[in-house]
Amino acid sequence: MKVTGLRCRICGKEFPPEALYTCDNCFGPLEVKYDWEWIKNRVSREKIEKGPKSLWRYKDFLPVDGEPVDLGAGFTRFIRASNLGEELGLKNLFLIDDSTNPTYSFKDRVVSVAVTKAKEFGMKAVGCASTGNLAGSIAAHAAKARLPAYIFVPRGIEKNKIIQALVHGANVIEVDGTYDDANRIATEVAEEHPDWGFVNINLRPFYAEGSKTLAYEAAERLGWTLPDQVVVPMASGALLCAIYRGFRDLERVGLVDEKDVVFNGSQPHGLPISRAVKLGTRVEPVRKMDTIVHSLAIGNPADGIFAKEIIEKTGGYAEDPVDREAIEGIKLLAKTEGIFTELAGGVTVAGLKKLVEEGRIDRSDVVVAYLTGNGLKTGEAIVDYLDDTLKIRPRLEDFEEVIA
Ligand SMILES: *Cc1c(COP(=O)(O)O)cnc(C)c1O
Ligand SMILES: [Zn+2]
Repeated sequence: MKVTGLRCRICGKEFPPEALYTCDNCFGPLEVKYDWEWIKNRVSREKIEKGPKSLWRYKDFLPVDGEPVDLGAGFTRFIRASNLGEELGLKNLFLIDDSTNPTYSFKDRVVSVAVTKAKEFGMKAVGCASTGNLAGSIAAHAAKARLPAYIFVPRGIEKNKIIQALVHGANVIEVDGTYDDANRIATEVAEEHPDWGFVNINLRPFYAEGSKTLAYEAAERLGWTLPDQVVVPMASGALLCAIYRGFRDLERVGLVDEKDVVFNGSQPHGLPISRAVKLGTRVEPVRKMDTIVHSLAIGNPADGIFAKEIIEKTGGYAEDPVDREAIEGIKLLAKTEGIFTELAGGVTVAGLKKLVEEGRIDRSDVVVAYLTGNGLKTGEAIVDYLDDTLKIRPRLEDFEEVIA
């Protein structure tokens, strides 16, 4: 058996591989425990390379057995960003562009795994609390799996993200409060309906594993080597932790040589994880979040302490760009690489820029930065920061005049 159980990330207590997520001993979060011999005997570079062009090429590493609920997530574009690299002073900058996933964010990776698990558990519905991207992804995968979806979102997230969830027929519940309020009510609903799979609540240990594929892809695309440094956007910190585990998995089964990859995070200014790294303090929840980067706006990050620990022990750092810098990041990427990323991607690019300017990343380092969402989802946030269109009557002389 590939999955042997669940284990508390704080005290180590073990549990059966069921829809559990908190430790009854210390209230710590649980993680999936694998039989590494089982996995090692099944994986090889050749087998993976012959696999489907989606995250399911790494199925042997993922905590599911059933037929995948698959819209084609993963194995997205891996780009050598020589223009942006030149602009920033980096010779070996690579980007993974998850804006091209089926619902246009990296959340399709975690959701595809979690909804597959929900089916395996025989659950009757799926749901989540969402900062925006999870909503559309759950809605689409639930439609494919023919399950009803209950999606809790805070007030004020981007309209396109709501439209995307609604079009697939999901029940979208707009909560008068922040993401953390939406998450609290969703947790109560999950406890009330144990046969519903709330992907980031009672399925969280399984859900988080889908993000490990972003580590596997980086390694595979780099010819089965690990980068020197990564730059990862952070909301709850789960993605950063999963990429770290993903590199360890590959080392453990011998698909790559061991290497100490430096982990850097980027989070909008004022949010808890970057704040704690910069100030050298504990990760303290923040109640009021003053940022337009809704997809990363989590005031009480579930994986915050673990993300901070990884950043510190690998010798990395966390940056905290303000909204204006995130918008500049979007524009810089768009103008140099032809990629339109969402605000979270702007935070990543802006964070990367700061890390280089501070001398934390060397010119020759192999760097992988993760672009996790599509710019068309957050167009309304940047429209005021773009040049206006040139308006003319349908006459040649008008054209010559406006471009003069
Ligand atoms: C959810 C999300 C993240 C990261 O979320 P974590 O909670 O840290 O795993 C990053 N970028 C985008 C666009 C997201 O939607
Ligand atoms: Zn525990």
